[in-house]
Amino acid sequence: MIYKLSDLNRKNFKAIEFYHSDIALKNKINNRPNEQATLENLDILADKMQEVRDLLKSPIIITSGYRCLELNSKLTNSAKDSFHLYGLAADFIVKNKSAEEVVKFLSNKISVDKVIATHYKKNNRNSQWVHLQVQSNWKENRNLFLGEVITEGGTDYRKI
Ligand SMILES: [Zn+2]
Repeated sequence: MIYKLSDLNRKNFKAIEFYHSDIALKNKINNRPNEQATLENLDILADKMQEVRDLLKSPIIITSGYRCLELNSKLTNSAKDSFHLYGLAADFIVKNKSAEEVVKFLSNKISVDKVIATHYKKNNRNSQWVHLQVQSNWKENRNLFLGEVITEGGTDYRKI
């Protein structure tokens, strides 16, 4: 199968939501995925996001999906080998739900590689988003549901 960008449309998501970036626009970076491997990965991600949307029954705002190398390097907090680079990760927020609530709700309901509530503090509803990543077709998901804790020593991950 040859994948096109329009193949990423889902019931509750438009294809562009998986690669739109304000920072890319501002910096005139072309963040449109065009490699077949990336589009194939994004197809898996889009299915997973629709599954999450159906379970949550709440609108989801994707704040960052696919990132080309140039965009990823513009983001100071992004990992060099981020799953976003391969079209295998999305950051999102859910209306009226904290990242912690979302991760708790999803644990054991879906198969994913990793879901992280960022800037995790127990019962903190502020400035958090959910990072969700899946493996490509030939690798197994690890099903990790984590909270990211920022400490003086760096970043720590706890089971949620
Ligand atoms: Zn992310």
